[in-house]
Order: sequence, then C-alpha cells, then structure tokens
Amino acid sequence: MGAVYSALSHLDCSRCATRHDASVPQNLCGCGGPLLARYDLDAVRATVTREEIARRAPSLWRYHELLPVSSADAVVALGESITPLLPLRSLGRELGLPRLLVKDEAPLPTGSFKARGAAVGVARAAELGITAIGMPTNGNAGAAWSAYAARAGLRSLVVMPTAAPEITRAECALAGAELYLVDGLISDAGRIARDAVRRRGWFEAATLREPYRVEGKKTMALEIVEQLGWRLPDVIVYPTGGGVGLIGIAKALEELAELGWVDGPMPRLVAVQAAGCAPIVRAFSSGAAQAQPWPDGEAHTVAFGLTVPSTIGDRLVLDAVRRSGGTALAVGDDAIAAEQGRCLRREGVLLCPEGAAALVAVRELRAAGWLDAAEQVVVLNTGSGLKYQHTLLPVDAPVLTPDAVLE
Ligand SMILES: *Cc1c(COP(=O)(O)O)cnc(C)c1O
Ligand SMILES: [Zn+2]
Repeated sequence: MGAVYSALSHLDCSRCATRHDASVPQNLCGCGGPLLARYDLDAVRATVTREEIARRAPSLWRYHELLPVSSADAVVALGESITPLLPLRSLGRELGLPRLLVKDEAPLPTGSFKARGAAVGVARAAELGITAIGMPTNGNAGAAWSAYAARAGLRSLVVMPTAAPEITRAECALAGAELYLVDGLISDAGRIARDAVRRRGWFEAATLREPYRVEGKKTMALEIVEQLGWRLPDVIVYPTGGGVGLIGIAKALEELAELGWVDGPMPRLVAVQAAGCAPIVRAFSSGAAQAQPWPDGEAHTVAFGLTVPSTIGDRLVLDAVRRSGGTALAVGDDAIAAEQGRCLRREGVLLCPEGAAALVAVRELRAAGWLDAAEQVVVLNTGSGLKYQHTLLPVDAPVLTPDAVLE
C-alpha cells in the first residue's frame, strides 16, 4: 500500500449512521445529526509508525494521516506547536494527586485551543473550494477562525455576544472578518449567522455543523498520549461548552485504540461546566441522553467559553463521558477566580477561567474520593489567561517616585 498523507475515507452521521461523501463540503446530516470523519486505519497502520511520528516537526500536523487535509500543500499553518504538558507539583501535593498534569493550550496561535479546530477546519474548507465562511462564537473561536481564514484568503463573518471578552472582537475585526455583536447569547448569534450564510450562499462553520473542527481538536488527545510515551492517563478533565473538544478527545482515543497504538483502560472523561450554565451536567445527573437548553436569561459565568446554553453535540458528549466511566460537574465562579490566582501563585501557570474551572473540578473530585491519589490526571487549560484581562485587573501596587529607595 502506498503512503497516504490523509487516510480520510468518508463521513458518518453520528445519529443515523448514514454514510456521506467527504470529498465535497458537508454540514449536518439530513436527520440533523453532526457528521464525523472516518479514516482508513489499516492504511494509517501501513503508512506510519509511532516512531516515525516522533521524528516529525513538533506541530499538530505531525498526525496528518489522522487529519482530513489531503496534502502538505493544503495545510494552513500559523505555527501550531505541540503544547506543554506540565506537572503541577505544588498543587498536586496539596490535593493529594502527585501525578497531576496540565495540558497548557495558551501558546497556540490566537491564544486558545480553538486554533486547532480552525487550522484544520479552514485548511479543509479551502481545499474543498469554499471561499467564504460564517459562524457564531463566544470569542475565541471567532478569533481563531478569522486569523486562519485571513491566512487562507477566505472571507469570514462572525457573530459574537456583546459580553464576550473584548480582545476577541479586535482579533476578528483586525483579521478582516465581518464582525457583528449581538445583545444576547451564542445561541442567538448562531441563529443570525446561520441565516446570513444561507442567504449569501456562504459556508456555515459553526461548532459541529461542519465535520472538521472536531478533527483539529482531537489532536489534544493525540499529543497528550504521545507526550506520555504512548500511554493513557487515568483521567482527562475538560471545560465543556459546545463539547467539541471532549468529543474530539474521545474520538482520538478510540482511533488510537483501534490502531493498536495504545492499550489498557480508556481514560475517564470529565465534563466540567460552570454553575451558571450547566446543561450537560444537568442531563448527566438526571440520566438523560440529551440536554435541555439552559434558560437564556440565567446563563452566566466568568468562564465565558462555557456560556453555551445548548449544543447539538449534547448526545455525543454525554455518551462519551458515560462510556468512559467519567462524570460531569459544575463549579462556581468564586471558586474559579480563586483557583486562577492559586495556580499562578503556586505554579506560575496563568490559567484561563475555563481551565481554572477544570482544576476546581479536580479539587472537588479528589475531596469526594472520586479521584485516587495514584491516578494520573490531565487538566486541559484551553486558553491563555491573558485574554481575560477583565478578570485580572485592576491590580493595586504602590506607586514610587523615581528617586525612591526600597529596603
Ligand atoms: C470554546 C472554549 C471552551 C469550550 O470548548 P468546546 O469545545 O466548545 O466545549 C473552553 N475553553 C475555552 C477557553 C474556549 O474558548
Ligand atoms: Zn443522520
């Protein structure tokens, strides 16, 4: 068998299992289900080994056989380096989890893990001949997709809640996106963006409404497993908004198992949400297969990326968490703010509020005995705390005159 750059074979509907052609642009299945990319894993096995991957450039593109982009020439890159997997020794000692790790996504282009989904999603859209995309965002996805769209020469339209972190507005607008603000939630932005792309004949690139963002995000799990020497951690803790990251992580773990590149029990996946917007947690606790939309007027949290009152990924997230033996829990804004400060003070790591929420969840799960001292736990810090200046400022410090002398 000849070498393949991408082993993408087709798309499957995640609800009704209908097979779809991956060689043309696709959104949802006719049944309303999100489509998932499928690969010829025998071809991957015949083409590449883990040792060969280790010799490739340190970028998410090193896993190109398991990504949908068909050739090196079609890659759209802004330097998606492998992100650090850092031990949290001091906090780990405090919590009684000596093997606690954080996967720190802050160094990615545009300062969040949304770059993974955007890099792969934009590159695939461009190679399928798409020239204009539109999407709603809570900020970071818009920033990432606008930047990658600029890189690839695509037009972009972004609709964002007025309450989203302000810096992300500038990132979208300065990258040339047509930016609109809506005095509402991401669900309102989604409806407006969807209607606009339909009227214009543009491509809808919203979460899970195109199949390749999840492929980019799954590289988080590929990196974690490779960084651990192709071993699986016991638990992965993920701050869940639309849930694409968690769906991607579960998908990557399944693909690795099927390739025979990992063995042993699958990590338990933990979906963390904010108490102010926790539709997945509520559904998980009640045993429901689907989540009910969180009441719009009530959805609020400092972890803005988690302000997602409803997602079409709900069943996939719930299913992935349950199949892994994982759990879902919501944490409060005060605890998130305290954890953000504590992690910077104790570890030198500035988490975004979403990442801090995941760490709060670890603290609570350890206290409840759900996590064992011997377990290796990986927390996802999904973005840079620097994008949330409003949660960090103002800072009080004494102002000195230029001739001041300090003892
Ligand atoms: C978007 C976002 C999330 C949630 O990601 P999903 O994949 O939609 O669940 C978490 N953290 C940050 C910083 C984000 O920007
Ligand atoms: Zn279907």
